[in-house]
Amino acid sequence: MCLLANKVLIVEDSRAINKMLAHHIATQLHIDVESAASMQEAKQILDAQGDQFFVAILDLNLPDAPNGEIVDVVLDLGIPPIILTGSICDDLHDEMLEKPIVDYVVKRNLNEIEYVIETVQRLRENMGRKVLVVDDSKSSRRLLSSLLQRHYLNVLEACDGVEALDVLAEHDDIILMVTDYNMPRMDGMELITKAREKWSRHELAIIGISTSGSGTVSVKLLKSGANDFITRPFLHEEFYCRINQNIDAVASYCMLRDAADRDFLTGLFNRKYLFNTGNKLFQNAQRKNITLTAVMIDIDFFKKINDTYGHHVGDMALKHVASIFNQQLREADVIARFGGEEFCLLCVNVNDADAEMLFTRFRKAIADNPLVMNSLIVPMTVSIGYSMELTDSLDHMIKDADTALYDAKEGGRNRVVRFVQNMEVPTSAVQSA
Ligand code: GH3
Ligand code: MG
Ligand code: MG
Repeated sequence: MCLLANKVLIVEDSRAINKMLAHHIATQLHIDVESAASMQEAKQILDAQGDQFFVAILDLNLPDAPNGEIVDVVLDLGIPPIILTGSICDDLHDEMLEKPIVDYVVKRNLNEIEYVIETVQRLRENMGRKVLVVDDSKSSRRLLSSLLQRHYLNVLEACDGVEALDVLAEHDDIILMVTDYNMPRMDGMELITKAREKWSRHELAIIGISTSGSGTVSVKLLKSGANDFITRPFLHEEFYCRINQNIDAVASYCMLRDAADRDFLTGLFNRKYLFNTGNKLFQNAQRKNITLTAVMIDIDFFKKINDTYGHHVGDMALKHVASIFNQQLREADVIARFGGEEFCLLCVNVNDADAEMLFTRFRKAIADNPLVMNSLIVPMTVSIGYSMELTDSLDHMIKDADTALYDAKEGGRNRVVRFVQNMEVPTSAVQSA
């Protein structure tokens, strides 16, 4: 499969269903779609661009391929299929489930179409998700991994509990762990108990696996903190149902948690997050003797933008400025919306010599990229104050940066000023952090 495979292929002879799927995938998911109404048409598309599809949605009953022949054509190219069928026929159903397919959907009503679209979306999101498989048997590990990889999850493996804890510590972004019970050195129960000391059920889903007939194992694993349990041997369909449910639950929790840290309008971090994270950065900077720079940025004459063009354009201007900031940030920088049209940036490890240049780049990026809305062009500038004196607290640093910002405003705006000791502090200008 080509790394750049980013399209969906639909092969379906019902024009209505084909069009509806293509429309929803293109408009809701913004994914490019190619549609075919027969096996012959599909083959033509695949000949030309077979390496560009990450999934194919296939009708089992096509005019020139009535018994699911299209499935093997697509599988031969390494494209995992979602299978659509008009009705369940047990033999064909069983035959299809033997193949490495993503899912099998019976087209009864609109809900099923929605389910297909959700599945496509999940596959794409899975490309950025990490999961861990823990099993001492190499063949079991391989089977579980290949099932998960078919759904584009990034799979890490460990052969026992001890190794699993190391992998979890190294990859803090693992969202799901699937673990066997019986393992040498550390079994599944001890692993789950230890993992739960660090990761809650909400941020790391754990599914325990054991062989049928092993009595109370499922209860033991669930009581240790597993979210779910699967008994071997299992149907692939059941495995995927449980994996998807657990991944969805973790993803929803993370989305809510992240939303609580963000400013609703601009998507930048909010003030609460800035102080939580900023205080940790501050303590780290104190301990390890590394530099921390606090930067206050304020849009010049922003009130005039609201007064001239209305509040809606003002909001668009704030979003626009935020998106330019995001393009300018280095990976470790933290930027937050501090208040109305004020932003606070914290940078670690910036040299004295580079700071002026770095923040001038921010200033210029805003001045050179006005907000453009249809025929309206709204030029903007920002004033920037920064402080590199570590002082005794983050609050203090931010106040110093704010003093420098006031100096930039007084000096004529659209400029960058560094805080220096004895800089005049007009009482009206200093905001409490
Ligand atoms: P200065 O150059 O001195 O900073 O002037 P200014 O006009 O930018 O500063 P001032 O503090 O007088 O005005 C800030 C304005 O920002 C006032 C307020 O209505 C507006 N504002 C604050 N939050 C929002 C928001 O979320 N959306 C919009 N559209 N306007 C906002
Ligand atoms: Mg302003
Ligand atoms: Mg202001």
